[in-house]
This record gives sequence, structure tokens and C-alpha cells, in this order.
Amino acid sequence: MSISKFKVLFTEFIPEKLDDGIFYVSMECATASHKCACGCGNEVVTPFSPTDWKLIYDGETITLTPSIGNWSYPCRSHYLIQKNTVVWAGTMSLKAIESGRNRDKARKAIHYGNANHTTPSQDDIKVNSQPQNTFSNSDGLLNTILRFLGFKK
Ligand SMILES: [Zn+2]
Repeated sequence: MSISKFKVLFTEFIPEKLDDGIFYVSMECATASHKCACGCGNEVVTPFSPTDWKLIYDGETITLTPSIGNWSYPCRSHYLIQKNTVVWAGTMSLKAIESGRNRDKARKAIHYGNANHTTPSQDDIKVNSQPQNTFSNSDGLLNTILRFLGFKK
């Protein structure tokens, strides 16, 4: 049975056995656990960190960002938890999952200061850096031509 709404339980430690429909939050361990919303019974752990998940608690309900993608489980569920409510997201293609994983790796690398060891995926190169590159390239080319023609030193 799939879950449409979670009950939130703040707890010091995440219990070993999770109940259906309960979203366990441990601030002490900076992590949360719940059973997959599709009802498959798999446990989903969502640690909180600047590069993992973020929890928004409004005093009554929780919202978790980003979405939860259970790619390693057979159900491959993909959903968001917004104000305790499960919002189903579309299934992602393998390519999208891969690029998401690469992005995640790149983000972690940047966060932990070893960005040089990771090549960001194409998706990470934001559009706004491209016009600049084009500009400086053509600018360089123009200067080269001007220099060649003797207009510029
Ligand atoms: Zn599932």
C-alpha cells in the first residue's frame, strides 16, 4: 500500500524497525528514515547535509528537498515530501539518473574542496558562462586579426 501522507516523529535515534507511514527525524544524528512511499517496504535514509537533503519544519509539517529517488530499489520510486504529503515525481530516465549522480558527485567535490579531481558533467556548466566564453574567444580572435593587420600592438 502506498503512502500519501507521512506522520512525522522526532526521535533521538532512528529505531531499527520502522513503521509504515512514519517519517523519523533525528536531529542528533542529522538524518531521517522512512519506508519507501510506494509500499515496497524498503527503508530510505535521507541524511541532512549541505550536499544531501534539507529539512524544512514549519512547526507542524516537514518538507524535504530535493526529491527522493530510490533508484537502487526495484520500485525506482521518485517522489517529494512536501508538508508531510507525498508528491509523486516522474520516473527518470537512466541518463537523467546518471547525470544527477555526476552532478551530486561534482557538488560534493566542490563542497569538500577537491573540485579539481572531478570533471563536472555537461549539466553543471551553466548557460551563463557560455556567452562569456564566446565573447572572449571572438574578442581574442578579433585582436589577433587586428594585430595581424597591424591595427593593434
Ligand atoms: Zn518502493
